[in-house]
Amino acid sequence: MRFSPEKLKIPDQRMKPFIDPEEIWSFINSTKPDKQRVRDVIAKSLDKHRLSMEETAVLVNSVGTDLFDEIRHGAKELKDKVYGNRIVLFAPLYVGNKCTNNCQYCGFRVSNRDAIRKTLTDDELIKEVEALEDNGQKRLILVYGEHPDYSPEYIAHSVKTVYGVKKGHGEIRRVNINAAPLDIEGFRIVGESGIGTYQIFQETYNPEAYKWYHLGGKKRDFEYRLTALDRAQEAGIDDVGIGALFGLYDWRYEVLGLLRHTNHLEACYNVGPHTISFPRIKDALSLNIDGKYQTSDEDFKKLVPILRLAVPYTGLILTAREAPDVRKDVMQYGVSQIDGGTKLELGSYSDSQNEVQNLNREQFKISDARSLAEVIDELLTNDYLPSFCTSCYRMGRTGEHFMEFSVPGFIKRFCTPNAILTLSEYICDYATDEVAEKGWKAVEKNLQKLESGVMQNTKDKIERIKKGERDLYF
Ligand code: SAM
Ligand code: SF4
Repeated sequence: MRFSPEKLKIPDQRMKPFIDPEEIWSFINSTKPDKQRVRDVIAKSLDKHRLSMEETAVLVNSVGTDLFDEIRHGAKELKDKVYGNRIVLFAPLYVGNKCTNNCQYCGFRVSNRDAIRKTLTDDELIKEVEALEDNGQKRLILVYGEHPDYSPEYIAHSVKTVYGVKKGHGEIRRVNINAAPLDIEGFRIVGESGIGTYQIFQETYNPEAYKWYHLGGKKRDFEYRLTALDRAQEAGIDDVGIGALFGLYDWRYEVLGLLRHTNHLEACYNVGPHTISFPRIKDALSLNIDGKYQTSDEDFKKLVPILRLAVPYTGLILTAREAPDVRKDVMQYGVSQIDGGTKLELGSYSDSQNEVQNLNREQFKISDARSLAEVIDELLTNDYLPSFCTSCYRMGRTGEHFMEFSVPGFIKRFCTPNAILTLSEYICDYATDEVAEKGWKAVEKNLQKLESGVMQNTKDKIERIKKGERDLYF
């Protein structure tokens, strides 16, 4: 059905900006880290309830006190009890870096005359996807600058192209998007191409600060960006991802901003964001940020457990912007997805010569340039269960993080067996002998967590995978 504006009945409050800086600051300024209160707040989260703004502010204000250890423990307990040891893997794929905006933190901004601009041709895109498949990737996020060339039709075309690439046992089973905000019709066009999550980061939830950093182009409009995912919902995309770019403004404010955005989506659409991202600013071509709000490693390691407790049923994404040691540390507090084998330069997955980052060609500098195999090796060593599962999305079970969290037994019936099956595929098709040995041990160990019926069914499927069948899931 074509979009017709007159049929649109969007209640006013959905399109009104829902961020009030005074309100956010009043929560931060009026709460105190009282011991009993902190414990009650942690208990509420462990009891599987999303925290309120005021409760989250209590946690934020506990930073720097002895109580913070209890917050960390709480987040770890929540992760261990609810989500277990699975970590879902994905890779970003930059499709085009032309951009008409002027974001002061980004190497792709229009004023960066030294940036080398490129948009992958269909053939180049296919080569990139083949190279990613050869590494064992199954889930991608496609990334675009904001430019008239990257119309909704173009984005939809690139999504379909990616899904169409099959090499050996390789295929991409879930394509997420990180691109500019669209109008409702635009979101509908992209949604119909079969995307997973549409991700847009607000960058900063403070409208004043937002103005300092966004000096030109459509992205200057704070409210248009803030209400983007409302338009996505109106267009039928209910799987959306939010994020803030830490380092632009006070991190405590941004944590509450993310929570306010979550409240808003839940209140209006009965479904919160599927994922929350918390990237930190990294070096980029002509980075123009004064560093006043730089989020230190120490603060970063605090904000992740707070976010975990504040939004216990939302996926948390941690990227290769962070160094391996930071990733390893914060992963214990409830991260659900990480990227592995990440390369940002356009065309670099298929160009094996290209190992060194060149900031004239890339959005920013990453701190974890390890291959997917190395990342998986480390996950296995640290007793995580790497997963490439895409089952819920393909079975139409949207809101899987919510289900994992709220439906008793869901993880044991679906997530763990599907993680085991996708890891088994990875081992058969892509792993070195050493990783394979660790991987099969992890498979064996995690099978023991399943009830006998599911365990037997999973074992039967593993045997079929060993004989060459693929894409078996629950
Ligand atoms: N152009 C689209 C947009 O701005 O929404 C797509 C996003 S951009 C290619 C992906 C995200 O990277 C941005 O939303 C921003 O949060 C993040 N980013 C930009 N510059 C960065 C930097 N120097 N360090 C870390 N992350 C950065
Ligand atoms: Fe363009 Fe996005 Fe970079 Fe801003 S963050 S300059 S919109 S690519």
